[in-house]
Amino acid sequence: MERSDVFISGAGIAGLTAAAVLARRGLSVTIADPAPPEGSASDPGADLRSTAFLQPARALFEEAGLWAALAPEATALQTLRVIDTAGDPPQARTVRSFEAAEISDAPFGWNLPNWLTRKVLTEALAVTPGVDLRLGTAFESILTREREARIRLTDGTRLIARLAIAADGRASPLRAGLGIGTTTTRYGQKALAFSVTHEVPHENVSTELYHRGGAFVLVPLPDHDGKPASAVVWMQDGRDALETAALSGGDFDARATERSTGVLGHLTRIGGLRIWPVITQTADEIVAERVAILAEAAHVMPPIGAQGLNTSLNDVASLVAAIDARPGDPGAREVLDRFARDRERDIRVRASVIDFYNRLCRSGDAPVQALRSAGLKLVHDIAPLRRAVMTAGLGG
Ligand SMILES: Cc1cc2nc3c(=O)[nH]c(=O)nc-3n(C[C@H](O)[C@H](O)[C@H](O)COP(=O)(O)OP(=O)(O)OC[C@H]3O[C@@H](n4cnc5c(N)ncnc54)[C@H](O)[C@@H]3O)c2cc1C
Repeated sequence: MERSDVFISGAGIAGLTAAAVLARRGLSVTIADPAPPEGSASDPGADLRSTAFLQPARALFEEAGLWAALAPEATALQTLRVIDTAGDPPQARTVRSFEAAEISDAPFGWNLPNWLTRKVLTEALAVTPGVDLRLGTAFESILTREREARIRLTDGTRLIARLAIAADGRASPLRAGLGIGTTTTRYGQKALAFSVTHEVPHENVSTELYHRGGAFVLVPLPDHDGKPASAVVWMQDGRDALETAALSGGDFDARATERSTGVLGHLTRIGGLRIWPVITQTADEIVAERVAILAEAAHVMPPIGAQGLNTSLNDVASLVAAIDARPGDPGAREVLDRFARDRERDIRVRASVIDFYNRLCRSGDAPVQALRSAGLKLVHDIAPLRRAVMTAGLGG
């Protein structure tokens, strides 16, 4: 029987970050994931989403000693431009820009492709003392006792840990193994995630365009083959999304350019495309005996407002703070209670706000569209309100 202070199921970005931060505190960490090590963006299983890491996420990466490796790949986001559109094809109706410089010396965040972030993190953890990284091996089952969790992996390994962390995604096998249910809202929407080059430089401006069906978001990336590039998340009603995804190269690019109102000129897709169902989901409990549940295992939100993974990294920071406050036993009841108290309300509030925001952004009803346009003007044009919303969006 092997022993570790902490076992983490899931080496996504949240699980890997948790492993790095906990190892820095001298805890031994075993982390397992059935996915193989990350290769490149063209690998069939590559996560083609990108994440706009907000300021608190960067602070956590710095604390984990990971930011130096990520920084050269990151694109700073200085401005958020919101465009409310109407008509078919969509035409810009209300345009407002939010400047990071108004509330801080730092940008709103830094955008990185997910596959690249995971690659940098796994390479760093492979040489981090105290971390046993098992890619290609899955969590299989868990049995908890007052003083320990007993875990079994698919390669037959049996492991005893004082704390088990579920960071194994929206279908979390560890959460399911404990019999903890979820509350799920489906919108009948899907999100297409892909990257594009474009004619007009992005100038570090992230652009969100609202239209019937959902948001179309362009987030700056480094140049690709000498051309300006951005990551795109395009939310649509499910059937429309599948139809769009099936379009051939030129037709797809034309549809995407039209949907973007041509704000960055002609868009040309680079590489593949992934389709994600859009849901809001929260776990019914985020702690159990010797177990903490975090990231998408605890909460899934529509991909709008850059909240999903950033909320996940807030979970990691909160769990680490709870462990720091009671040194000696990372899975003690007091640690888990403190983590649950700290996170439950924030997760509930963020999930509700993003749910409301998504419903507002996707509506095709004329009165709701008018309300959305008026709301955007109101939030932007009243300076204290504008600053408060920007600060809240960053996690404040
Ligand atoms: C289109 C789109 C765009 C997004 N953009 C943003 C953004 O800009 N900003 C933001 O903050 N968030 C964003 N999000 C949300 C963000 O991408 C997710 O919250 C995040 O990727 C989830 O990370 P995770 O580590 O929780 O889960 P995952 O990345 O799903 O990782 C879970 C891991 O668990 C592993 N696993 C599964 N089964 C097992 C098992 N049995 N044993 C061990 N491991 C297992 C999986 O292989 C996987 O590696 C976006 C989401 C979507 C859909």
